[in-house]
Amino acid sequence: MDENLGRVTKTTPSIPIENAFRLMADAAPVMIWVAGTDKLCHYFNAGWLQFTGRTPDEEYGNGWADGIHPLDLHRCLDIYIRSFDARTPFKMEYRLRDHTGAYRWVLNNGVPRYNDENEFIGYVGSCTDINDIVELEERKDEFINAASHELKTPLTTLSVYLHILKELFPPEEYQQVHLYLNKIGSQVGKMTKLIADLLDLSKIQSGILPAESERIHVLSVWQEIVDNYQLITPTHQISLKNSGDFWIYGDKDRLGQVLTNLLSNAVKYSPHNSTIEVAVDARDGRLLTTVRDHGIGIDKIHHRRLFERFYRVIEEQQQTFPGLGIGLYICAQIIKQHDGAIWLDSEPGKGSLFCFSLPIYPEHE
Ligand code: ADP
Repeated sequence: MDENLGRVTKTTPSIPIENAFRLMADAAPVMIWVAGTDKLCHYFNAGWLQFTGRTPDEEYGNGWADGIHPLDLHRCLDIYIRSFDARTPFKMEYRLRDHTGAYRWVLNNGVPRYNDENEFIGYVGSCTDINDIVELEERKDEFINAASHELKTPLTTLSVYLHILKELFPPEEYQQVHLYLNKIGSQVGKMTKLIADLLDLSKIQSGILPAESERIHVLSVWQEIVDNYQLITPTHQISLKNSGDFWIYGDKDRLGQVLTNLLSNAVKYSPHNSTIEVAVDARDGRLLTTVRDHGIGIDKIHHRRLFERFYRVIEEQQQTFPGLGIGLYICAQIIKQHDGAIWLDSEPGKGSLFCFSLPIYPEHE
């Protein structure tokens, strides 16, 4: 063994460990903070202080919260306190005032700290400036919104003229023309659905997905959707099994949109001549709707992220199916808006079971 090497490792560091860590933290291109078990912060690195332009004394304790945008403050403190009490890691995005007085979006990641005896000793966190990314996202959303609106107008005109042509050329006399008009109609329908999804996406991003509230008789609404879907889907057999007379409260069209979306995915990702079973039941005082298909299925590794915006399963089998990966995201947002939950059970080659639950509305009210 190299003697020199041995000697080097035994040498006492010239800088005390604590000091060495401070130097490292101050040089790191990230903002770092440390809190004790009492939730109060007692350390901020140079990166943090440069960003906020404040002194350590101004930031210590709860001082750091002064710089949070008033609209984000309540949410942030809630995440911070709840994570601290549960000793769980947290991530929160919020606007923080910088040294110029402007607010910038940051991503703050906190994790619990433990000593050698595995005793909890507080939290350590890092904060990154993500303002440029957030601004780019906003510009992308604005573009999607503007483009969808621009596409909607000519598409509406196309639909109107298609309708006129169908009247001018009745199917009895103009079979061939009608065949082509129907093909055009089906493509126009697909584009209309796509644009409607993109517009919904924009509404969700700006937090204004409108929702009416009314009593909904589940059996009649679900039955109508299933019947209508069966009419346009001769390739699959769709059934509805209902185990009770339930009422829910919410936006009929939006909740119908969720069921329609799950049906259209079930059709899209399962072979011709297979069956799709929709079932409705009550579980733990909530209404449970399930949609089962016998298609390609989805590996467990994707389940958690499937309801995220633009998430698509990229595997050989899925590559032939067109889509943008926004349908399930919209479903999840609508269900969330109705105090519900949405999830799935699926395995490759064994089909998929998509489920959503909603609060039941008492019949006598
Ligand atoms: P897309 O327009 O891509 O279908 P969705 O948000 O509806 O968007 O679905 C996201 C992804 O989830 C799809 O790309 C597909 O990979 C997968 N998926 C959704 N439903 C099913 C299903 N019933 N069977 C298999 N895969 C599905």
